[in-house]
Amino acid sequence: MNIEQALSLIRSIPDYPKPGIIFKDITPLLAKGDALHAITDALSAFATPAACIAGIEARGFIFGSTVAANLNRGFIPIRKSGKLPFATHAQSYALEYGEATIEIHIDAIAPGQEVLLIDDVLATGGTMCAAIELIAQCGGIVVGVATVIEIPILQGRNRISSLYPSMPIYSLMTS
Ligand code: AMP
Repeated sequence: MNIEQALSLIRSIPDYPKPGIIFKDITPLLAKGDALHAITDALSAFATPAACIAGIEARGFIFGSTVAANLNRGFIPIRKSGKLPFATHAQSYALEYGEATIEIHIDAIAPGQEVLLIDDVLATGGTMCAAIELIAQCGGIVVGVATVIEIPILQGRNRISSLYPSMPIYSLMTS
């Protein structure tokens, strides 16, 4: 399956989880092994040779893990507040819907370690910016942020670029 065919499996669910949100549902894509493989290969191309992979809970865990395994690299989970058992750095941020805090283990990334940061959707960019900040707090170097879907109207790319001007931002499709 090619990447366009794989991306075409993503469906839009209007008014979920609340009115006005068009939710990008990746579950039909995940259900097809060859589609998951195509997406994993496409995202893997954005990693530098030395980068490990960080993924943001929850759907960033799926693609982050498949990319990490595909490349034989480590995977670092960035989790919602209260889920990580060891000492953490924390960042709060606004979502397209609601507000959240995410955390990373303080020893998750060695100083100077390159990291490719992966999530499923780039919307307002608040989640990505908070995650970039968490990785920086560990001493890691984010070599790029990669998503399957970018929603340009929500300006996430601009938000990331205004805070991190040289940050590479990759997305496999816009919607
Ligand atoms: P944001 O911080 O606004 O860029 O939102 C990105 C995060 O919220 C990602 O972790 C996504 O999983 C989730 N998200 C935001 N908007 C959507 C959407 N329309 N469909 C699916 N997930 C979304």
